[in-house]
This record gives sequence, C-alpha cells and structure tokens, in this order.
Amino acid sequence: MMEGLQGLAVRRATEPREVPADATANFGTVFTDHMFLMRYESGQGWHGPKIEPLHALGLVPGTSVLHYGQAVFDGLKGFRGKDGEIRLFRPEAHARRLRRSAERLAIPPLAEEWVVESFLRLVDIDRGWVPGERGTAIYLRPAIIASEPAIGLHPSHSYLYFLILSPVGAYYAEGAAPVSIVATEEFVRAAPGGLGEAKTPANYAASLLAAERAKEAGFTQVLWLDAVERRWIEEVGTMNIMVRLGEEVVTPPLSGTILPGVTRDSALALMRSWGLKVSERPLAIDALIAAAKDGALAEVWGTGTAAVVSPVGEIGWRGERVRVADGKAGALTRRLNDALTAIQYAEAPDPYGWTVPVPVFN
Ligand SMILES: *Cc1c(COP(=O)(O)O)cnc(C)c1O
Repeated sequence: MMEGLQGLAVRRATEPREVPADATANFGTVFTDHMFLMRYESGQGWHGPKIEPLHALGLVPGTSVLHYGQAVFDGLKGFRGKDGEIRLFRPEAHARRLRRSAERLAIPPLAEEWVVESFLRLVDIDRGWVPGERGTAIYLRPAIIASEPAIGLHPSHSYLYFLILSPVGAYYAEGAAPVSIVATEEFVRAAPGGLGEAKTPANYAASLLAAERAKEAGFTQVLWLDAVERRWIEEVGTMNIMVRLGEEVVTPPLSGTILPGVTRDSALALMRSWGLKVSERPLAIDALIAAAKDGALAEVWGTGTAAVVSPVGEIGWRGERVRVADGKAGALTRRLNDALTAIQYAEAPDPYGWTVPVPVFN
C-alpha cells in the first residue's frame, strides 16, 4: 500500500503551536500544524505529494474553482481509543467516495490508496492534536479543487488535492439531544441527473437559504424532498435519514439524488446483523406525517460522520409541527449510536474491519 506516496516530501513546522485548550469547542474552526498537498497537471497526472506547515493556498482571482465550483470534498474522522491508539473510521470507503465524486465533476480521479495513505501520514504527523476525550475526534477534510488560472469554462487542466485536520467535539450544540426538522416544498437539494450523490460544494451552496429559512421558523434542519414530485423524503440537512415504522426500518434508496453516506452504510450493516427488517425504499412525506400522528412512527434519526446518529424529535410540514418519539431519542437510535461509537473508540470488537489504526511512520 505504501508504494504510491514514496516520493512524499515532508517539511515540518518549525514552530509547532500548542494545542488550544478549547480546540474542540467550535466545529471546524481550529486546524492542526500541517497539511497534505498533491497536484495534477494534464500530461503529468497526479504528482508531488507533500506535507507542509499549514498555509494559505494563494490562488489568483482567475482560478477556475472560484468561478465555476469544480471541486469535491469528503469528511471522515479518527478516534483516540482508550488504549491511546488512533484509528480512522472506514478511510477506504471515504477515499472511494472522493474518487466517485471527482468522476462526476470531471476531475481526474486520485488513486484511493494514495488518498488513504495521505490520511494516515498526516494524522501521524499531527497525532499530538488528536483529542482523547470520549466524544471528541480528529476530523479529516480532503478536497480537490480546479486550480487552473483561467476563466474559460471547461474542465480544468490542473488540480490541487489538499487535506487538512481539525480537532472536533460534539457537532450539534444540543449534543445527542433530538433535533427538529422541517420539510420544504420551496427548495430542493438535488435533482435526478444532478450532483446529489457527489460531495461537491454546489450542493451545500444550494442548501444554505433553505437552512436559514428553517432556522427562522424555529427548526434545526431541513428535511429534503425529491425535486420532481416534492413528495419523497430524501435527506435531513447534510445527513441521511432513517425512520422506524413499527418493526421496519426504512431509508430512501440510493437513487442518484442522495449522498451515499458511510454512516448510512454502516448503520444498515449493523441493523441487518441484529436481524432487524431494513428496507431501502421510497417513503412519502404524507405517509411519514400520517404515521407520526397515528403512532406507527416510532423513531426518526439522521446519520452522518459529524453527528454519527442524530435523533429527530419533531417534524414540521405545511405549517404543522408533529412530535416523534415524544421528542426523545428512541431506543434503536441510541443503540445504533452506542454500537457505532463503541467500534470507533475500539471499546467493542470491529467485525467488519472498519477501523484502521494510524501507524507511526517515523
Ligand atoms: C456527507 C453527507 C452525508 C453523510 O455521509 P457520511 O459518509 O455518513 O458522513 C449525508 N448527506 C449529505 C448531503 C452529506 O453531505
């Protein structure tokens, strides 16, 4: 595996900073001492892997990505277990998704094993930044941007891959407290044939106004409906959505408009291993609201790297607010969260080989 980045050039920070005491207080605002970089030029391919002290990118104003948004990113976490060892959660799955996102944005794919190695190398160098408290983690943010200094519209001839790290605590201010979500008919996140299944900045730009409106109306997150009929539930905020209807767990199928979450996949695998009935099938908002009213809707939760499992306590729809699970985190929601985090912090066996220890390279 370690062949890919043999030419890796490492330049260490001459004055490493002291890790701030409140480094995990605000999500994604504190970054570690180093970053990983690699470039692409047509004719040359991906080359020149390096780790350098964290620095600004210095893009000229005519840089392609600043105008047309040809960019992708991903997000994953590393956890310090009780034994002190740092483990990344499913780095191969995230590297694969980064490649798929890149393909959708006409970005030349970067070998998955290189991406995984960049994760391991950078976390190793900045391992002193990985917090140790339960609930905290090191967040890895890999991104690829079109770096050609030209505003002609075409796939860029040059790209920059970079990776930065941020120590993080609990994602939502409420912690594991239930969130309230509101379905919107006014805005959509992704349409068939569009970018919904790629982790690309455009999707997040598209979501911001709806998220602001939801907050103004007193909700935490937007419940996205499909773009065609505005009827089928798709995602919640930047999480995949799952609901328990009686003894069946339902989540929308990966039909192209939904981001294929690694947490989603992990949660489905665990629930199937527990013998639960799990269906990937379309679910209409009116059916969801009806089930909430007649008591069939037992639990709703979102899944994603940032919050792992986030319980939903209330759903807004056409001016009405409907409670879910008495506004509390349901039993399966908690079981899933406990099982996933126990694997992440190496407190439980890892039968799927999801966690990858970060070796000491030098
Ligand atoms: C990142 C993301 C998710 C969750 O994916 P994970 O791999 O579980 O972190 C779900 N939906 C959207 C829109 C996302 O951006």
